[in-house]
Amino acid sequence: MTTPAPSATIRDLRESVRSGARSAVEICRETLARVRASDPALHAFHTVTADRALARAADLDRDRDRWRDAPLTGVPVAIKDNLCTRGVRTTAASKMLETFVPPYDATAVARLERAGAVMIGKTNCDEFAMGSSTENSAFGPTRNPWALDRTPGGSSGGSAAAVAARLAPLALGSDTGGSIRQPAALCGIVGLKPTYGRVSRYGLLAFASSLDQIGSLTLTVHDAAIALNVIAGADPADATSAPDPVPDYTAALTGDIRGARIGVPSRLLENGPGGPDGIDREVAGAFRTALDAFASRGATLVDVDLPHARHAVAVYYLVATAEASSNLARYDGVRYGFRAPFDRHDDALGSMYARTRAGGFGPEVKRRIMLGTYVLSAGYYEAYYLKAQQVRTLIARDYERAFERVDAVAMPTSPTPAFPIGERVADPLQMYLADVFTVSANLGGLPAVSVPCGFTAGGLPIGLQLVGRRFDEPTVLRLADAYERDTNWWKREPAHV
Ligand code: GLN
Repeated sequence: MTTPAPSATIRDLRESVRSGARSAVEICRETLARVRASDPALHAFHTVTADRALARAADLDRDRDRWRDAPLTGVPVAIKDNLCTRGVRTTAASKMLETFVPPYDATAVARLERAGAVMIGKTNCDEFAMGSSTENSAFGPTRNPWALDRTPGGSSGGSAAAVAARLAPLALGSDTGGSIRQPAALCGIVGLKPTYGRVSRYGLLAFASSLDQIGSLTLTVHDAAIALNVIAGADPADATSAPDPVPDYTAALTGDIRGARIGVPSRLLENGPGGPDGIDREVAGAFRTALDAFASRGATLVDVDLPHARHAVAVYYLVATAEASSNLARYDGVRYGFRAPFDRHDDALGSMYARTRAGGFGPEVKRRIMLGTYVLSAGYYEAYYLKAQQVRTLIARDYERAFERVDAVAMPTSPTPAFPIGERVADPLQMYLADVFTVSANLGGLPAVSVPCGFTAGGLPIGLQLVGRRFDEPTVLRLADAYERDTNWWKREPAHV
């Protein structure tokens, strides 16, 4: 049995199954062996569905003819644990859902399986996707495969670590304010947040419904395009999913970006929240060098102004917490999930709710529910929530105006590379400020991709972000792919795998 090439992409694996060089079962066994060897140190997975995966792979091999031309036949995939998987525990990394087994699949998960993918397990994340480091998981943090004492970012940190460590070529994540792109950047892989509505949210445990979007974590941009081909499209179960036709995203990857105009928001980069020291020197350097690479391929760099973008973090933490406080009201111990033990001295229903929520949610989730309840309450609604919605519109308009002159806007994905585990847990504001470059794409519903753009002297990955017009995934993917062809940063592998 051959050992899988550690850098195997979706494209390579798929081809090896199609040509008959390898069977789905072989690939599945090797993948599970890698997970067994590496995951104890990383903790990328909550649940590994080994038996189910092997049975599924055997089905694919048995029915080879039927599956020959499906886009993901035999490709192992990992699923963030806030996406429902029928018959497989789905916790959102919360004690509240520690034993929850959904009776249905998220649409994105069902689409992967219909395309021939083999789910190998559920990945760790921040509780209910609230966080930027995966440290808010009720089940312990995930470690960064590039430096085990550092976070992989978050909230889709388990998905990012799994792909970076070559435990799966594709993982699904969710991105409400950067949770796919930031961990992708911190782990040296590609993270794609599609346009709001491009991928059905059915079966995603809701955090902030007007911002949440499901997307992919992969090694390459081409793989991100393959994954989007499968998961994108209208879904009767999600009224916000877009009816727009789904193009073949791989067809957009021509390598030709001559004449493309890339906007650079220099003023934001110099004066973002946190001040001029906010961006790490090595991140700024790698970003500048990457811009030169785009220019050498024939793209034009254009200075753009996004005057309201510096308010994006404040706006995001008002809108997201308001929506979260409403969405999380359903976890009351009555219908499913954790319930505080019955206290026979106290038969009031309200007390059962209170004890369930006090015991089931972790500190960050409670902080957000309280913030969100506060900003929605009478007397504060106008000053906070309504104001935030108005500024949200201004931020979206800034982008619309910029897109009259440019085809995409480039920024670093994260102002710093991966930070040490524990460094920011006591300082939520510091943690929130790190979302400065990612949240505005969610506020505007825009597609955005993070692609590796280098390493620090200490060997930590750095990511570059491209934000595009609504439904213009083809352009952001084409630009990112062209850059990747010139640089191939993804081929470097972390030592800790
Ligand atoms: N880091 C952001 C937050 O904590 C984004 C999370 C996300 O995208 N799910 O809310």
